[in-house]
Amino acid sequence: MRYVGFLFSIAALSVLSACGGTHSLSVGTNPNSSSSAGHTVADGVTSKETPLATARPVAKITSPSPADKLIALTFDDGPRPYVLFGGKTVHPGPGLVDILDQNGVKATFFVVGWRLTPKTWGEPRHEEDIGVSCIDAAEQLIRRGHELEDHTYSHLELRTAEKKNGEQWVMHDVDRGAQAIKAVTGTQPRYVRPPDWILTDDARRDLQKQGYRVLTISSENPIALRDVNSLDYLCAGKAVGCPKPSLPDAVLQQIEQREKKGTYTHILAFHELSTTAAIMPRLITDLKARGYRFVTLTEYMKLVESKPGETMRQTTADVKQPTSVAALRR
Ligand SMILES: [Zn+2]
Repeated sequence: MRYVGFLFSIAALSVLSACGGTHSLSVGTNPNSSSSAGHTVADGVTSKETPLATARPVAKITSPSPADKLIALTFDDGPRPYVLFGGKTVHPGPGLVDILDQNGVKATFFVVGWRLTPKTWGEPRHEEDIGVSCIDAAEQLIRRGHELEDHTYSHLELRTAEKKNGEQWVMHDVDRGAQAIKAVTGTQPRYVRPPDWILTDDARRDLQKQGYRVLTISSENPIALRDVNSLDYLCAGKAVGCPKPSLPDAVLQQIEQREKKGTYTHILAFHELSTTAAIMPRLITDLKARGYRFVTLTEYMKLVESKPGETMRQTTADVKQPTSVAALRR
């Protein structure tokens, strides 16, 4: 149990770099030609930061009854075709999408906008070209009933980018990511997960004003609306530092801790990684055996926020539909 406590202190008090270790990209350059968006995450940087520490709660939620046990599976940093459909050489194994299909699970993918440009299949240094472009992969995800949401266009750490380029740049990066998704899916993304969950309060507030819901791990938010950081990036590439005794067990331990607080709904934050795809069959089986039902993030929010008897305290920012920065400027 000591490990569980340790794991929680990691999750709660510091954010290990979830979105790729080195953000070496200079703002404005083409992420395609950089390794910054890749998951060389074994060398993830430990941060003492508490992102969104002063963020205001979006809503006060009381937990649903255990009869409504819900999981929203989410995967960041794609589309990565070799993870979604299975690699052939470097990363052999079943594709994540097939695993989800076989288990009747619909998931939500927080994708990176630069990938949704023509002929892009990923990042040559760390990923495998299986002959499927990221746009093709995104279209398949939609056809198979999954959701795409916004993980920015550049995948840069937004607080640093804001310091360097101003808040408007951050707003534009999120909006550019949303437009890239909309161009493929026809649907305006509603949810944003900032890389590593790092965002200034001002930028968060302004994104909410535009109608975006910003996902967070801040303890100031209701627990049901707080991402569960799977720490799966610790398993990328090599097992050293991977949550012990295993990734599925570590995630289940976090869920058990939340259940002890009366919370039976969970947004699980994973990444499009081969190592993560490999553990999904077992994790899904275990969670189903515990009575959990898998829903998309949209359905999750609808169900969790509409439970009878819940106290809702919406901020004014949450009632608007997303509006593009470009549209506001017109
Ligand atoms: Zn990321």
